[in-house]
Amino acid sequence: MRIAMISEHASPLAALGGVDAGGQNTHVAELSTALAAEGHEVRVYTRRDAPDLPELAELDNGVSVVHVPAGPAEHIGKDDLLPHMAEFSHWLVRQWGSGEWTPAVAHAHFWMSGLAAVTAGRLTEVPVVQTYHALGTVKRRHQGAMDTSPPRRIGYERALGRSVDRVIAQSQDEVAELIRMGVPRARLSVVPSGVNEQTFAPDGPVADRIPGRPRVLTVGRLVARKGFQDVVRAMQLVPDAECVIVGGPPGSDLDADPQACQLRRLAEDCGVGDRVRLVGAVPREEMPRWYRSADVLVAAPWYEPFGLTPLEAMACGVPVIGTAVGGLTDTVVDGLTGDLVAPRDPRALGMAMRRLLSDRVRRFAYATAALDRARQCYSWRRAAEQLVAVYATVSGVRQPSRVVA
Ligand code: UDP
Repeated sequence: MRIAMISEHASPLAALGGVDAGGQNTHVAELSTALAAEGHEVRVYTRRDAPDLPELAELDNGVSVVHVPAGPAEHIGKDDLLPHMAEFSHWLVRQWGSGEWTPAVAHAHFWMSGLAAVTAGRLTEVPVVQTYHALGTVKRRHQGAMDTSPPRRIGYERALGRSVDRVIAQSQDEVAELIRMGVPRARLSVVPSGVNEQTFAPDGPVADRIPGRPRVLTVGRLVARKGFQDVVRAMQLVPDAECVIVGGPPGSDLDADPQACQLRRLAEDCGVGDRVRLVGAVPREEMPRWYRSADVLVAAPWYEPFGLTPLEAMACGVPVIGTAVGGLTDTVVDGLTGDLVAPRDPRALGMAMRRLLSDRVRRFAYATAALDRARQCYSWRRAAEQLVAVYATVSGVRQPSRVVA
């Protein structure tokens, strides 16, 4: 089957850890790879955000990336991309409508991709499947006046839910939110993200650690809602441990990064400055080394649409302490593969860290169950198969054809 992935701001080729580059990039890259491995022809359409990018890049894994010229060929924050979506959509219409490459289905990631895909899909009769990745209603609830999304985002997301052929939710929490938004239940399917079990596995190289010092690892874009400040505060309750924070700009640029400086200042104020270390962005292929080096992965977001990092840690056989929000309430089984605590509660987080770090047997039991759960329930192959069934239904292609080399 010919499948178009639309991912306006999140290229599968981007370096991760920056403000707008994280889970969606990984999701689109891994899902496309898994679909291509099943014999499907996959093209990812993403905005051309640098002048030296080729219009079409063919990757070794059989996936092609199309850099769509919409707006200037430079980085634009995702909250300022909306004015360029019409151009993005016109470009899709020209390519799909000309017969040069017409997909059986378009899978849009994030709401702005959905707008471009729905407009192009209507004109070219290509059905559209939508994954939101994050919802404006949730962001507004948590960030209030700090939310920099375009003011009409929530209205657009609601309208999209009624216009696309199918909405993919990634967790039960998202299902509830979508239903509250008025998306008809019959249009919803739940297909969670996966984890690459070849890349993220317990065996392999391990990042250096200080002998005898337990390591708490936390990973993500350095944005407030990831709750790194709560992890830093919680470190006061585990006086023997160190906290390693992975993510943000490259390590050499951390000194100039306001979020990084704020976290370092907070660590000093809490008296844990010598035990909190920021390493900056780590290339995706090096992430497993960091997970393997940890005694526990702490993920303390205030809200989280899905949350890949707990799952990646689980696949490396690392127990997780997470906040009971969004996708984490599905992936982390409280008391079995890790512990869940209330969000924005550094004390509860610190107590959970203290209990787990002092209990080797419990850590081992969680790690074993976590690895098992990641492998059984969250392979990308499984996600790809479930999505192909959805694509087949909306496109009427009941027997997706294998591409013959
Ligand atoms: N990541 C990475 N390098 C970094 C920081 C993060 O490769 O320095 C990856 C991480 O392994 C995960 C993704 O970025 O695959 C973050 O996804 P998550 O769902 O946790 O958060 P999001 O960015 O979607 O909010």
